[in-house]
Amino acid sequence: MTVLINGKLISQQVIDETAKEVSTFVEDFGLAPGLAVVLVGEDPASQVYVRNKVKRAEEVGIRSLEYKLPATSSQETLDDLIQKLNADSTVHGILVQLPLPDHLNEEAVLLAIDPAKDVDGFHPLNVGALACGDASLVPCTPMGCMIMLAHVHPDLSGKQAVVIGRSNIVGKPMAALLLQANCTVTVVHSRTKNIESICSQADIVVAAIGRPEMVKASWIKPGATVIDVGINAIERDGKRKLVGDVDFADVEPVASAITPVPGGVGPMTIACLMKNTLQAAKNQVLKP
Ligand code: NDP
Repeated sequence: MTVLINGKLISQQVIDETAKEVSTFVEDFGLAPGLAVVLVGEDPASQVYVRNKVKRAEEVGIRSLEYKLPATSSQETLDDLIQKLNADSTVHGILVQLPLPDHLNEEAVLLAIDPAKDVDGFHPLNVGALACGDASLVPCTPMGCMIMLAHVHPDLSGKQAVVIGRSNIVGKPMAALLLQANCTVTVVHSRTKNIESICSQADIVVAAIGRPEMVKASWIKPGATVIDVGINAIERDGKRKLVGDVDFADVEPVASAITPVPGGVGPMTIACLMKNTLQAAKNQVLKP
């Protein structure tokens, strides 16, 4: 029978463990880890993400600070805020919700964040550390995928893994983590030829494409594990529905384990953000 990898359940375990560790941190150091969340503009999806992050932070005992800037904010205003947060020793993690309005330079913003406080793991220094197999702050979504995979594969060594998608926030760090776990990793993308045949040889398929239900049963080797990162809003039978990049109904009978959408990778991302904030706080208070 196919195992449904339950992101709600596993993310709650991560949250509970993090809450325990946060409480020990508060006892040891007399302050709570602090997370600053910066939102520029009024994008409805971003507002929901920020609200959920702040809610989760409160749940685990992390002190959250919300900064809402108007969509018309200048690069200088945003940079000033980041410099202020970088200098504040009670703020251990800084997250700038992406995407930013078009007139702002996303790369410059990510570069401005102190790498020690970069709880998204997007700063080039942290990206480089991950490539060297030596990262302390790892991007949250791929970290969540690895925790889910560990539930079905305590040892990933020697497995053939295919990552579909090569974005900086999901595909590339996912490939780096799988490689670190001793998988043989192939990354496929929009220019790859014969994607279906490459995927069908994999023990593990991670789909991070942004194309609703693109991955079909014929792409999956019987008994493979499938992690679906995609979140796509579609309309079906006159109703709005969230689906992944994997055609769940088609693939589920073929796979040995699969994540659902919703309730799969999504909740893991926020749980891992809490884990990273605690990690950043520990690194900062314990640094020599
Ligand atoms: P991006 O758009 O940044 O990257 C998509 C990747 O998929 C690119 O590398 C692109 O290739 C590749 N791709 C696009 N179309 C095809 C195709 N037809 N065949 C093969 N490859 C293709 O997306 P993200 O990585 O940011 O996100 C991917 C999905 O994951 C989205 O649905 C997003 O909403 C979701 N997501 C979910 C999160 C969660 O918490 N669950 C967190 C982050 C994202 P190329 O590089 O050649 O253009």
